[in-house]
Amino acid sequence: MFHSAYLKLTAFYVLIVMIISVSFSLVLYRISSQEIGQGLNRQTSAIRSLPNSVHFSFSFDDLEQMRLEQLATSSNRLKLNLIYFNLLILVLSSGASYFLAKRTLRPIEEMVDAQNRFTADASHELRTPLTAMKTEIEISMRDKSLSVSDVRQLLGSNLEEIGKLEYLSGALLKLARFKDDLKKDFRPVEIAEVIKEATEKASKLANEKSISIEGKVKKLQVLGDRQSLVELLIILLDNAIKYSPEKSTISIEAFTKDKQVVMTVTDEGQGIKASDLPHIFDRFYRADTSRNKEKIAGYGLGLAIAKQIVELHGGTISAESHPGQGSVFTIKIPLES
Ligand code: ADP
Repeated sequence: MFHSAYLKLTAFYVLIVMIISVSFSLVLYRISSQEIGQGLNRQTSAIRSLPNSVHFSFSFDDLEQMRLEQLATSSNRLKLNLIYFNLLILVLSSGASYFLAKRTLRPIEEMVDAQNRFTADASHELRTPLTAMKTEIEISMRDKSLSVSDVRQLLGSNLEEIGKLEYLSGALLKLARFKDDLKKDFRPVEIAEVIKEATEKASKLANEKSISIEGKVKKLQVLGDRQSLVELLIILLDNAIKYSPEKSTISIEAFTKDKQVVMTVTDEGQGIKASDLPHIFDRFYRADTSRNKEKIAGYGLGLAIAKQIVELHGGTISAESHPGQGSVFTIKIPLES
């Protein structure tokens, strides 16, 4: 698809260059021909105006003939040179245009590739629970001796798959929702309140694993969307809880540094391998070697949503980790001006 776009753009660039080059050559040809003609005219006039005492071995008619021949030869030579010049420009501009077309279209191609990958991943993830449900229902329908308790079990399992579908479609919607148009509703947001609300929402999960969440938070404000910021912290807290052992501690800090609000979420969990760190914010990325991958629920969308929320607020998010000891997620958002 992009190959033909490269060629079309190349042809377009070459066309522009050639229009300029040919127009320039035509003007040059006209001016030069006139100059040559006028030069030759001056020469013949000068010869004609010599005194009669000077004798020539040719007549004035011969002179006029020579003038016309000279004019034709010079014009032809000029024409030929300009044609060679334009052919050279054509060859050079074709190469340069193809290179430029590739450079122009590469970011668009990468974006389309990423979008296609995302659509394929999303479709795959949405299909998995649907296939599981379909298979279970088909098997049950073939079973003539299906009891009420079997049906209950089937419905329970179906409900679980529906829960996954609901989570996935919700996460996909969020990815589409955190876009620039939310910026128009930005208000001053108290960070301490955001952290309090997120901590309360995450506390049920934390209590199940006897994990304590500690906070060291200064009174700070950023310009933003409160609900999105709460969502952001819930994602980080949920992960910290999911990937931490029981009875561990998660700490949240918020302070200002270099005109930015800095928030950190630190856990004492399994950590993230250095090779996984650059990818954890990619959509659908889950650390591959995690032995818990099958056990710990998730689709690898949480951190992609977190990144989108932070970028919406003009900030950055990064992670540091020591496998086996824990991870620190750091968010930096510009202070309300
Ligand atoms: P999910 O948790 O649903 O798999 P995320 O996008 O939230 O998806 O996280 C991507 C991956 O990053 C996770 O699969 C996990 O391997 C890793 N990760 C994220 N947060 C942590 C954490 N606090 N400790 C260890 N690993 C983490």
